[in-house]
Amino acid sequence: MQIFKFGGASVKNAEGVRNLGRVVQSFNKGLIIVVSAMGKTTNKLEELVEIAHGGKDYREPLEELKAYHRGITSSLLEKIPLHYLELEAKLENTLSDLSQYDPMFAYDRVVPFGELMSTTIISSYLNEKRNFCCWLDARTVIRTDQYFSEANVDWVITERQVWEVLSSLIKEKVVITQGFIGSDAEGNSTTLGREGSDYTGAILAHCLNADGFTVWKDVPGILNADPRIMEETVQYARLSYREATEMTYYGAQVIHPKTLKPIAQKSIPLTVRSFLDHDLSGTIISSEGIKKDIPCFIFKGNQLLVTAQVKDHSFMDEKKLGFILQVLDLLNIKINLMQNSALTFSLCIDNKGFKVKRIKELLSRDFILSFEHSLNLATIKNYTPESFEKLPPNLSVIMEQKTANNYQVLYRSEDQDETS
Ligand code: ASP
Ligand code: MG
Repeated sequence: MQIFKFGGASVKNAEGVRNLGRVVQSFNKGLIIVVSAMGKTTNKLEELVEIAHGGKDYREPLEELKAYHRGITSSLLEKIPLHYLELEAKLENTLSDLSQYDPMFAYDRVVPFGELMSTTIISSYLNEKRNFCCWLDARTVIRTDQYFSEANVDWVITERQVWEVLSSLIKEKVVITQGFIGSDAEGNSTTLGREGSDYTGAILAHCLNADGFTVWKDVPGILNADPRIMEETVQYARLSYREATEMTYYGAQVIHPKTLKPIAQKSIPLTVRSFLDHDLSGTIISSEGIKKDIPCFIFKGNQLLVTAQVKDHSFMDEKKLGFILQVLDLLNIKINLMQNSALTFSLCIDNKGFKVKRIKELLSRDFILSFEHSLNLATIKNYTPESFEKLPPNLSVIMEQKTANNYQVLYRSEDQDETS
């Protein structure tokens, strides 16, 4: 039994959907296809949430979203599927009364429509010529808590539901379902965090003891650096779960960070392959890794340095550090780099405005807080003496850390304005 995941870029137009059809055509059962929202739909839906939640006029972006999906649908199918039209109507209805809800709850009411629409269109396409697949609403099997927009999976209930619904069905048919979405105990829609479709694939693979999980991407496999940033890159033929987990931890946009644990627990191999060239073998992540360590470069922009300073001339001791870490845990904020001194604790995080606001609310009573915006973080995993030459020249270092294997530097690039 196999799980295939297709991201938004792979189904961003009608040709992408036809290509998906070619990838899956040899199956008639034993396959679950997990699909994201088409192209940049999730960004568009986020924009819609913001406008509609603020009580403003959202008609234009809504029409754009509909036109985009209808454009793809009409090049694939003769008739717009009824199920798709129902989704459009439901989305409109949902947007019309959004402002009454808490922002994150509102987000999770709207954003799942991207995945629901894409899978509806794609399953109609796949079923046009033959009765090929069965459409499943992932919210009926993936149970989460109520941490809206970054919900955590309830593994016990999810495992039971996945097993009950899917274990016999996949012996008869191919199943198509949505990545990224789930529901809470009250039946409200939830989402698993941006780019969470990989994670859904891994959850299903774990619960069903799949033989393999394949993520089809627009790159030939996993590279040691982002080719948009660095000229020379090397592709990994194999990676161990551990290596890949570390890469995602440092921010490599290889795979959603939560994806690896569920499949590693069951020793399920994960293959990252190109949907553009099906002959390439891609990168296999399994218990068996590479022999030689290749330096891996990870760059993250839009970093924020938060410095908390004690107010009462006491030390930044373990108790205070513990308190700060608890607050970050509560807000589900990941620290990308940290350093402490006698009176301060500095941490580098992704700059997400609404979370920064909450940090201020929760920490400014006990600490003097300062913020430095628009920074970059570079990580070299498995560095070699030569690899430092690949870092941007003239970077002004804000914070630096080196261990036996890894090097990290937080910097402001020369051309950046200090006040931005
Ligand atoms: N559509 C969602 C996103 O763009 C989930 C995913 O693509 O994995 O974040
Ligand atoms: Mg996506």
